[in-house]
Amino acid sequence: MKIKLWQLHLIIVGFSVANVACTASRAAQASHDPQISGPHTTVVIDAGHGGFDRGGIPGQRIPEKEMTLDVAQRLKTVLAASGYNVVMTRDSDVFVPLPTRVAIANSYPNAIFVCIHFNSAKRMGAEGIETYFYGRDSLPLASAVHYFVAGGAPSPNRGVRRRGYYVLRKTKVPAVLVECGFLTNPTEGEYAETAAYREKLAEEIATGVRARNSVTASSSSPVATADSVPLQSYIDQTKTSNSERSHSRHSRKKKSRSSSTKKKSSSHAPEPEASLISSHWEV
Ligand SMILES: [Zn+2]
Repeated sequence: MKIKLWQLHLIIVGFSVANVACTASRAAQASHDPQISGPHTTVVIDAGHGGFDRGGIPGQRIPEKEMTLDVAQRLKTVLAASGYNVVMTRDSDVFVPLPTRVAIANSYPNAIFVCIHFNSAKRMGAEGIETYFYGRDSLPLASAVHYFVAGGAPSPNRGVRRRGYYVLRKTKVPAVLVECGFLTNPTEGEYAETAAYREKLAEEIATGVRARNSVTASSSSPVATADSVPLQSYIDQTKTSNSERSHSRHSRKKKSRSSSTKKKSSSHAPEPEASLISSHWEV
């Protein structure tokens, strides 16, 4: 198609305006987040499972390790474009032991650690997004990530939960583990298999990372402004009572098995559906 000179001029002007607007937007964002404009913040992205560790539960159709890696790689692209220094604990289908993942995170003193998983349960109806943290200094990050991921996903909000998963307990930097939905749920599994949905997850996680310093302690306002993210209420699962455990036959079995040993925790075991998560996550 032949383009007349005035049309070409309009295209160039339009592109320039868009480019300036985009640059201005990035500048505004950078000035809003001192971590972006200041020394580069390192985000260590941890794609759950990998290699022989497929993730999920036995017989699960959708391999969790592939979904986590894909979201992690998309998140890497989004955060790198925002000026973050991004480090991946794995960038291919390999198994990385949990201590190695933690060591990578701890080798960057100013890093934040974002661990990506999907949930699984024998009960197909189990659904929703949940986000885990352990150290209190990780709560703002967990709140922000959960606020955007749960808010952006069509799935139910299962809340922010405090739990002593290995990768959360052992990391010395703010750390969060986000469970991006149940792959064993037909609807959520279908979402997860859609590239556009995984891209959306990555973008929401990235928005949470960028907003981690904007979490406000006040939860009086149910609607966050562009400048603040309400602190999410959380469920403390670090002190599970006997009565809670007795609801699940499997949990009772698990409790009796570990009652004579010191407290164990896994890096990935959603509750209460997922008391059957594979034992290789027990540390
Ligand atoms: Zn997992």
